[in-house]
Amino acid sequence: MADFDLETHLKNFVGEYYEGLSGKEELLERIVDEAGNKRYVATENPEDSQYRFAGEGENGQKVFELEQLKDFPDLQSDEFKKEVYSTDSYEHNYTEDKAEKLVKRLAGNSSKVSQDLKNLLEHSNLHFRVRKNWKAPNGSCSFKKGVNGAKNEIVICLCDWQKFGDDELAGVLAHELGHALDFSKRPEGCQAQYMDGVETAVDLVGISLLANAGIDSRGFYDFMGKDYDERKEKKEETRMLYTPDGNYRRENYDAAFDVINESGQNQGKGSKNKSVKKQIEELSGRRSSETTPYKKQPISRESMQGLHYARNFDRGGR
Ligand SMILES: [Zn+2]
Repeated sequence: MADFDLETHLKNFVGEYYEGLSGKEELLERIVDEAGNKRYVATENPEDSQYRFAGEGENGQKVFELEQLKDFPDLQSDEFKKEVYSTDSYEHNYTEDKAEKLVKRLAGNSSKVSQDLKNLLEHSNLHFRVRKNWKAPNGSCSFKKGVNGAKNEIVICLCDWQKFGDDELAGVLAHELGHALDFSKRPEGCQAQYMDGVETAVDLVGISLLANAGIDSRGFYDFMGKDYDERKEKKEETRMLYTPDGNYRRENYDAAFDVINESGQNQGKGSKNKSVKKQIEELSGRRSSETTPYKKQPISRESMQGLHYARNFDRGGR
């Protein structure tokens, strides 16, 4: 669709959920900020990824088509079933049960984001699957728009949540539901348009979902931030393909949280007495201002293979 502009769509999409909050415009700038968006060049042999980072002096694209987003997993295929726990396994049921309860809570208040989610879910079949090979807190969302009155199909893959805490699950799940909302609001044929800013947009939507449900979860964002700190410490590559790096993601949480919390308009449990942020700081024993400030990384042609653990899309089970 020629008149679809991804950046404008994302800012409008997220903006509705921060309507009337001071600091909103600055927050939305994070979605299109160069610091949070890498530039890419198509690879000639897209075995592992379709794009590589643009090299120094090379004019890559910020907005591009990620073909693999068009893949929708065939839940009944042997190929897909091999990669996920069987739906009658303990692993599957443990994670699905937690996820379903959380979804109910996220879709159960009067905020705009919660009502939009509720409305989407009423017109969708939502399936959860638990991936066997994911060793870190991670999720993915595949979306197929229902046509001719049929329901949308949404498949959210999660890792085995027995191994991780509820805080991480809440962060990941709210983020994946944000992807479903984004997909549902795009015009037909524009689902594969992508930029790193999609991840920031969906972070901001997920954080709004959480705050409005009274859930203060920074677990997932802390996880990514710590991973970034560790990589930096070891002088390893900190950038990641198809998503802003862990520090930028952690900052998304802090920035969104500040806007929500300082407005005093959210229904989060911290708004009435002690701030949620304060509670989190006390729990984690550190102030969020102590996080490493984001610094733009120099561009190199180094391969990013093996650094995809936190990407939120896979290739539909392949
Ligand atoms: Zn994502």
